[in-house]
Order: sequence, then C-alpha cells, then structure tokens
Amino acid sequence: QGAPRYLTGDKAGLKEFLDKFDVFLFDCDGVLWSGDHLFPGTVETLELLRKNGKQVVFVTNNSTKSRADYRKKLEGLGIPSTVEEIFSSSYSSSIYISRILKLPENKRKVYVIGETGIEQELQSENVPFIGGTDPAYRRDVTPEDYKKIAAGDESILDPEVGVVLVGLDFHMNYLKIALAYHYIKRGAVFLATNIDSTLPNSGTLFPGAGSMSAPLIMMLNKEPVALGKPSQAMMDAIEGKFQFDRSRACMVGDRANTDIRFGLEGKLGGTLGVLTGVSSKEDFVSGDSKPHVYLDKLSDLLESE
Ligand code: PLP
Ligand code: CA
Repeated sequence: QGAPRYLTGDKAGLKEFLDKFDVFLFDCDGVLWSGDHLFPGTVETLELLRKNGKQVVFVTNNSTKSRADYRKKLEGLGIPSTVEEIFSSSYSSSIYISRILKLPENKRKVYVIGETGIEQELQSENVPFIGGTDPAYRRDVTPEDYKKIAAGDESILDPEVGVVLVGLDFHMNYLKIALAYHYIKRGAVFLATNIDSTLPNSGTLFPGAGSMSAPLIMMLNKEPVALGKPSQAMMDAIEGKFQFDRSRACMVGDRANTDIRFGLEGKLGGTLGVLTGVSSKEDFVSGDSKPHVYLDKLSDLLESE
C-alpha cells in the first residue's frame, strides 16, 4: 500500500472515490462520534451515502454493548439504522462460538469476562454462560478459593466450561483472571472480543479490552483468537450476512492498526482514514497500515456534492 491521498477539499477526487464503492463499513467511535458527542455532519453524510444507494454497515469493537444497544444509541444521536446493519465484537464473538466452534455437548458453557453486551448477544444465540456481570465474581480471592481451584473443585470451576471469552470488564479483578487461567489450562478455548490495547475517553486513554486479556497472554504464553477488527473472522461474518463484492467495499476508520488493517487484510477495494479519533496523520502517512485515502473528518465527504 503506497502513500494515502489526502482528499479534504478535493471535490473531484472525493466524487471519484465514492463512485468506486457500493458498501461502506463504518467504525463508530472516533468516526461518527466521540463518546456521547456526535460529530457535526455525521447524519448528513450517512444520508448522502444512503441517498446514493450505498449500503451502510456499522462495525464496532465495543463489546460492552449489544447490537440492540447500538441501534438505540444511533437512534438517540439521530442516526436511523436497523439491528441487521450493526456488527459489534460482542455479536461476532457470539456467532463464532455458536456457529463456528464445534464444542462437545458437555463443554458448551462460556466463562465470560465482560459486560452486558456480551451476555445479551450470547443469549440471542442460545449460548449458556457464567461469569460476566454476575456480582458473585466481584470479590477478593479467599484462602478456600486457592485450595478449591487447585483441587479442580466443581463448586468453583464449572466442568461444562469449554470457552473463555474476554472483553472489556469494568470490574476486572484477580479472581476473574485466576478462573480464566484455570479454565484455559483445563482445555477451554481462549477467545477475546477484541484486543484494542487502549480505550479513548475524555481526551485521554484508559485500559481497552486487550488489556483484560494481556495478563492471561502473559500467564499462558498463548494468544487468544480475537473476534473484533482487525480479525478477518469479523469480516467473514459481515460478508456472510451481506454477500458484498469486496472490491466494491470501503472501510472507514480512525485507527490504523485495527480499522485500516481490517480493510487492507480483508482485501477491500478501499480504506478511508479520518483524523477525528486515535490515529494521527503520521500514523496514516507512514505507519504499517496506510489507508488508500484520508480526510480531516468524515463530513468532508459532503464536499463531493
Ligand atoms: N471498546 C469499548 C468498550 C468502547 O467503548 C469503544 C468505543 O466506544 C471501543 C471499543 C471502540 O469502538 P469502535 O470500534 O467503534 O471505535
Ligand atoms: Ca474507532
């Protein structure tokens, strides 16, 4: 991939670029909005694409919300959408577990580190789970716990657990890491909703979902299968649903090493970086995952009119 073209203010270049695609995959946070702040012109830009017959798909690594939560969030911000147009890492993880992993009948339970988005999507796929937001896991490890875990006591290590799924958990603790470690040691499949190291909030960075699986990677010397961007498992799931021509699809994102890499490795016809999120101009121009084009902000697409 050569140096990206900067298209802000280039009316003809923008029009030519947009004409190449039928499908636009949108990263959400950092492209459409930041936290709860909708970027000006987002609604109009999406309207323009839809008016021109483009298929729009929202692809987010946020596992803390379900697709239904996202649809509501979009609606609250004035962006019409359907659940079918939304792909969250909580959803891609759930379909990977229910449709791709071939688990034995007695090993179908998932031990979850994460929030309600994961729980809701597992429920929608009829996948049994433990952990997650259950307050029973929000406590210190006791001397009895150490002994029970060492002995493989079924009152603390459920023998039906065949998968450990790690997403962002706002109540992460020592007990959760210890249980996840022992489930994986006993043969459970190690999955991560996404491996974003950081999570932007209020203009600075906080621990992302990747920082939840990092202690396990360190203990086990083993990487999880990750289901969010840039994992191609997520791209395959999207393609499974929309049957689009990859050469006529464009990924739009703010993060070079997740969004842009996702589009490049998925062999999409285009990738578009915006400077309203995590990556800087330098990341786009001279980093490892260079987009085909980049803009100051998404709403610069309105200049194609
Ligand atoms: N993970 C969490 C928990 C988030 O809250 C967010 C952004 O809101 C993300 C990941 C990144 O989401 P996106 O892929 O939409 O940028
Ligand atoms: Ca983003």
